[in-house]
Amino acid sequence: MKLNKNFNNLKENYLFAEVAKRVDNYKEQFPSADIISLGIGDVTLPLSSKAIDACKEAATDMSTKAGFHGYGPYDGYPFLKNAIVDYYKLRGVEIHADEVFVTDGAKNGIGNFLDLFDEDNTVLIPDPVYPAYVDANVLSGHKILYVDATRENGFLAMPPKRTKADIIYICSPNNPTGAAYNAEQLKAWVDYALENQAVIFYDAAYEAYIEGKGVVRSIYEITGARDCAVEFCSFSKMAGFTGVRCGWTVIPMSLPLNRMWLHRQAIKFNGTSYIVQRMAERMLRGGYEDSKRMVASYKNNAKIVMKKFDALGIEYTGGVNAPYIWFYCGIDSWEFFDYLLKKARIVCTPGCGFGKNGNGWVRLTSFNSMERTEEAMRRFETFWKEFLDVRDKLFAKLDK
Ligand SMILES: *Cc1c(COP(=O)(O)O)cnc(C)c1O
Repeated sequence: MKLNKNFNNLKENYLFAEVAKRVDNYKEQFPSADIISLGIGDVTLPLSSKAIDACKEAATDMSTKAGFHGYGPYDGYPFLKNAIVDYYKLRGVEIHADEVFVTDGAKNGIGNFLDLFDEDNTVLIPDPVYPAYVDANVLSGHKILYVDATRENGFLAMPPKRTKADIIYICSPNNPTGAAYNAEQLKAWVDYALENQAVIFYDAAYEAYIEGKGVVRSIYEITGARDCAVEFCSFSKMAGFTGVRCGWTVIPMSLPLNRMWLHRQAIKFNGTSYIVQRMAERMLRGGYEDSKRMVASYKNNAKIVMKKFDALGIEYTGGVNAPYIWFYCGIDSWEFFDYLLKKARIVCTPGCGFGKNGNGWVRLTSFNSMERTEEAMRRFETFWKEFLDVRDKLFAKLDK
């Protein structure tokens, strides 16, 4: 047998594994330290009681002869697909139920979708971005090109002038920078994709956090997107389903990818569980207000961070349309990570883990309680003032 040689091209340390390792080392040295995690992007609030009601009802269904469900449809139950169609209608986007595919999460959806593409494809990925895109494409043996997201373009990469690509990744609102595209900017990407006969993989995992005017929640709000874009979405950050596992993919009927994906799912997937789909449905229908409250609570934490950063004069993006605040620390991101952990017992995520343009930057999440976020910001204020005093003495300066 021959192993997938692309495994050798993966980078040794997965970002969050390295973060966990450093935190574990610290805990070994200081077992009683009160550490606040604003690091990994996982939700912290418990599930809505509405989701639990749906879970219990669905479990009861399964215990009766009439309500028992075995294997479900590969593309998801109509009750959930229709709820998703109605969810898009809320903001005036018309999609058809046949264009919706229920998955067990957006990460799986995005990664597995590469099954439909030949190895001979050039992929365009913004830098910095969610690390799974790069790694999945390394495994598939695709040629990867990067498009720069920097402070100069507000961390919103725009289409390159001369470079051609076949597959384009867009994550908006962005993980890790929190930056979100407006309609005009996304139109430029759609035009670029159509011109290059490329496909856009649009990751909308954080669309529920959008509140800014003119910011787009679905790529299908943009003219032409139905001819070039696939959208991935998730109940994880919207309804706290990171441990429940449910997401969806929208693939317009006009793309041959729609029927190919159904075929692929039939081969390798036997559906998301009936109980989970009932829970997801509830969060779009009777439990939708709870989902909005959850998002609002995380966004309130982001405001606490933003307020403190404004007062301290820290340069940052995000926080408004996303549960992430991305700020400039001016030194090597890993050195900052260690120093922040040591001095303030706060865990962050080093920006360089999301791409080379992330060095010198740091991601904080608002996935914590209000009390802990407030405590973190009290510590951060003291920390930052001391840090500025010693920054030039203790750390090498980055080229600005
Ligand atoms: C969290 C996250 C996902 C993962 O979603 P799941 O549905 O839990 O797999 C996808 N994309 C981005 C950008 C994320 O941050």
